[in-house]
Amino acid sequence: MRRVLPVLLLLLSLLTACSSNESYTDTRYLMGTQCAITVYKRADQKVFDGFFSRLEELDHTISRTYAHSEIHEINENAGIEPVVVSAEIFSLIQRAMELCELTGGAFNPLVGALTDLWAIGTDEARVPSAEEIASVLSYTSPEHIVLDEEEMSVYLTSPHTHLDLGAIGKGYASDVLASYLRANGVESAIINLGGNIYCIGTKRHGEKWVIGLQNPDTEYGGYYSTVEVEDTAVVTSGAYERYTVEDGRVYHHIFDPETGYPSESDLLSATIISPDGTLADALSTAVFVLGSEQGRELIEGCGVEAVLLTDSLEIIRL
Ligand code: ADP
Ligand code: MG
Repeated sequence: MRRVLPVLLLLLSLLTACSSNESYTDTRYLMGTQCAITVYKRADQKVFDGFFSRLEELDHTISRTYAHSEIHEINENAGIEPVVVSAEIFSLIQRAMELCELTGGAFNPLVGALTDLWAIGTDEARVPSAEEIASVLSYTSPEHIVLDEEEMSVYLTSPHTHLDLGAIGKGYASDVLASYLRANGVESAIINLGGNIYCIGTKRHGEKWVIGLQNPDTEYGGYYSTVEVEDTAVVTSGAYERYTVEDGRVYHHIFDPETGYPSESDLLSATIISPDGTLADALSTAVFVLGSEQGRELIEGCGVEAVLLTDSLEIIRL
């Protein structure tokens, strides 16, 4: 009975979920966050299993912290030798460097040295001295990466240069998973990778999805506004996700690569809406760093939609 009871309870909860709102949700902790998939028409369990095993695979490839991830290998060999990588990770790094250029370096996948120094979100988080920051800043320069398309290799030319795909990984994963679900006949679903949303199709009867935009000032669950969307990613970057407090000052996890300090723009949060989840993720980080004025130019230049929340609580819809 001890074994049967949890199974019965699980079955009961699934049945309730299916009959009450005609949806089925499955959640796992991956990519350092809570990841959920909700499908609005009963799908084969195999589709869910395939979804999470693909997500786990992506996590193990992209994460810097897994001992054998491709990104870890590249970082371990920084200043030593080029590392031959899979076609998938090569294209992702190539795209990341293009987006670095497009955003004028506000989104910079070579911020690894800064992320390590500040260690925000870990037990070792601390505010480094100005000298320490100045000493690592040059290692984030794009000139420290060599991509060889023929060899499919990646070389970080300084031992202190480190790749960190934290600002693009979940967006990329949402693109891959959306394609996977569509290819498996799923027409109506929401992928939620720790707040990185990808909506597939519309709700069951053709209505748009209503996505809440988290209020940076309240506990999780409070929204300052909503957007109505279909078939698109909705990605937000904000100072409230991960931070450390020292001497009463809050230091968050998104760095301005020009200064080496957590960005200090006029934005409390930046949401980008685009069917290209990878682009949306990189742009949300970049726009958050750049602020409303420069951010607007970037958003308009990229032809995406956006909702920005400023520190004077103005909501800008673009
Ligand atoms: P989240 O991952 O919390 O949703 P972001 O997509 O904005 O938020 O990514 C933030 C992460 O990206 C940081 O934790 C860090 O690893 C990395 N990062 C920080 N600043 C930058 C930056 N300017 N450009 C690229 N990556 C960054
Ligand atoms: Mg991002």
